[in-house]
Amino acid sequence: MANDYYATLGVRRDASADEVKKAYRRLARELHPDVNPDPETQEKFKEITQAYEVLSDPKKREMYDLGADPFAPGGGAGAGGFGGAGFPFSDIMDAFFGTSTSRGPRSRARRGRNATLRVELDLAETAFGTTRELSIDTAVACATCEGSGCAPGTHPETCETCHGRGEVQQVQRSFLGQVMTARPCPACGGFGSVIRNPCAECSGDGRVRTRRTVKVKIPAGVENGIHIQLAGEGEVGPGGGPPGDLFLEIVEKPHPIFEREGDDLHCTVEIPMTAAALGTSVTVETLDAAEPVDIKPGTQSGQVITLYGRGVRHLNESGRGDLMIHVNVETPGKLDEEQEELLRRLAKLRGEERPPGKFAPGQRGMFSRLRDVFNQH
Ligand SMILES: [Zn+2]
Ligand SMILES: [Zn+2]
Repeated sequence: MANDYYATLGVRRDASADEVKKAYRRLARELHPDVNPDPETQEKFKEITQAYEVLSDPKKREMYDLGADPFAPGGGAGAGGFGGAGFPFSDIMDAFFGTSTSRGPRSRARRGRNATLRVELDLAETAFGTTRELSIDTAVACATCEGSGCAPGTHPETCETCHGRGEVQQVQRSFLGQVMTARPCPACGGFGSVIRNPCAECSGDGRVRTRRTVKVKIPAGVENGIHIQLAGEGEVGPGGGPPGDLFLEIVEKPHPIFEREGDDLHCTVEIPMTAAALGTSVTVETLDAAEPVDIKPGTQSGQVITLYGRGVRHLNESGRGDLMIHVNVETPGKLDEEQEELLRRLAKLRGEERPPGKFAPGQRGMFSRLRDVFNQH
């Protein structure tokens, strides 16, 4: 037999389960890779773990006693008994050796959080861009300790609990004895060091809260809901860590007249029926300046007059959207006697006393109607 598991664990062939367990534990404490990391000891540790694997399981021990050794070259499968059932040996070894690869203490310095600031802009500001000075409540590096968190003249001290490793090992009982697991050191929070004399200014955080003013340039063409990222303008991190980003969320205030659709603007102008028939000129307050707009004789209700290039500037490219003026013709409601007389005369002159009305297919969307209006021009 290749492996003498009884000899490996130093127990008699008739040792009780309890004796096997005790022997393994005693050896494991000695040979554990965390205690003795040299390759020879690790090899030995592997051997005793193998031995314990077999001898601690009554079924496997019985098979072994009958001559089947699962770990011997060509052993287990050939002997049938273990039938390649597969010991989770590598898993077990990972569980052991995994703990010996220390992750090390973590850094106190961490990246700061991102911050979001809502910026209310009116239409002209989103259309042409603007520069704003914004006040933000944020965290900045503590000037007293320069972000270290230590009182001036002091330094973090090595943690006595974990000796600077940042993690502590815990022994857990498992089916094969003790398994070491590592977890962050509770005494130092995993940093490996302790700040005994925290900076009075920042209580050891390395940063203080303050109100800061940032001057930001908002490009032309932004619209409601857009986020502008200002890299590195967020909160600084604890322990002198780098700052996060600042995001500006654009909130566009509604305009009393113009409605924005992409970079185009829409508004409505109401003109009396007579003006629509005879033509007139109205003044439109665009984003740029007051502009006279011609209403041609015979303008229909729903017609759109487009002022090209009077909309919002395109974001990140040249050019501007358009301003579309939707004409609404008001039909006079209350007529006095004279006005009614005049209109009846007009109707008679135009042969419109009993107009049949013009019918067309209905239920078309607003946009197709708008398109038709465009096509007429
Ligand atoms: Zn400080
Ligand atoms: Zn510690």
